[in-house]
Amino acid sequence: MRPVRPARAVIADIVPYDAKNLPADVFISANENPDNPPQEVLDEIEAGLADFRFNRYPDPLAGTLRAMIAETCGIAPECVLPGNGGDEQLFNIFMAWGGPGRKLLNITPTFSIYAYNAMITGTEVVEIPRSDDFKIDEEAVIERASQGDIDIVVVGSPNNPTGDLADEAFMLRLLDSTDALVLIDEAYGEYSAFSMLPHLKDYENLLILHTFSKAYSLAGLRLGYILANPSVIDEFLKVRQNYSIDAFAQLAGECCWRHRDLFMPRIGRTVQLREELYATLRTVPGVEVWPSDANYLLFRIENAHEVWKTLYDKYSVLVRDFSSAPGLKDCLRVTVGSKDELRRFLLALCEIVGERLGKNVHLNGWEDEQEGEDSDA
Ligand SMILES: *Cc1c(COP(=O)(O)O)cnc(C)c1O
Repeated sequence: MRPVRPARAVIADIVPYDAKNLPADVFISANENPDNPPQEVLDEIEAGLADFRFNRYPDPLAGTLRAMIAETCGIAPECVLPGNGGDEQLFNIFMAWGGPGRKLLNITPTFSIYAYNAMITGTEVVEIPRSDDFKIDEEAVIERASQGDIDIVVVGSPNNPTGDLADEAFMLRLLDSTDALVLIDEAYGEYSAFSMLPHLKDYENLLILHTFSKAYSLAGLRLGYILANPSVIDEFLKVRQNYSIDAFAQLAGECCWRHRDLFMPRIGRTVQLREELYATLRTVPGVEVWPSDANYLLFRIENAHEVWKTLYDKYSVLVRDFSSAPGLKDCLRVTVGSKDELRRFLLALCEIVGERLGKNVHLNGWEDEQEGEDSDA
């Protein structure tokens, strides 16, 4: 075979991102919504398909959806930019503000995609690790950001996978300390009821990311959006893929947004289940669990990888294994799925722990009540 010359040197040693998307009966590993969008939304999407033109290119900037989001947020449409999932925007940040000779300030452990995108664009990564208890070293972050050579700072709020919101006063001090583009990743913001949106008018360097993949049940379609000042959005317009938001995602996104109120009770239920799951995990011997403002919980257990494997092999319960990720030794992350999914997870976990200890570990408060599939439909 005639050989091909090497690809770019910076990607030579990269291992492709693996979402660990294994088939399982109880799939609580990717922080998805356990429910499809409500029936009213599905009906409206179906009605919209009646005169849907598959042969036409989509509106490049998803103008209708852009205007709807802007109106809800009380900002100009020029401050909103939808994209092909949050992931497209996380890539475009590095196309516009990253690259060789430029630097990302990353607060670890966090979503691995930030550093991954930095790597493939040749952006240098400067890491400020969290404490053993996953608290942000606020002074160290601000001190480093204020040195003047950082181009991008990312703060997950709530942070994936640790689940914690960043402190508002800290984020404001950070924004004041640097002219770097500061991304506040609010992919799980709907579960925390907090947003940095009110500060957009005061900070040209503030960028906020949201997605339809979590609270809005559209992970299968790829839709997200950023909120920023027009001067920042303009830079994204230069690097984005022109037709990144396909017409079907635009239709579905508009239907979801129009019926946002229907998602609120679901978000409330997830938050309540999260608290019940947190309270229960705290009682399981040998489990250390961190509080969360998102739709997942991070917990630590001895020999976590073995626990993960038994959960999957023996019970077909898939959680996310972070046990070999830097700073996350023996940590697993469980998505707040449906009550039934969580019951199966907890029963399996209690059996595994019970077997280790050689005694029964009981699960209280998760009795098998009959639940409606989707009680708000
Ligand atoms: C899920 C997620 C996103 C966005 O994901 P998309 O599905 O591409 O919209 C962004 N940031 C974090 C931390 C996430 O977990």
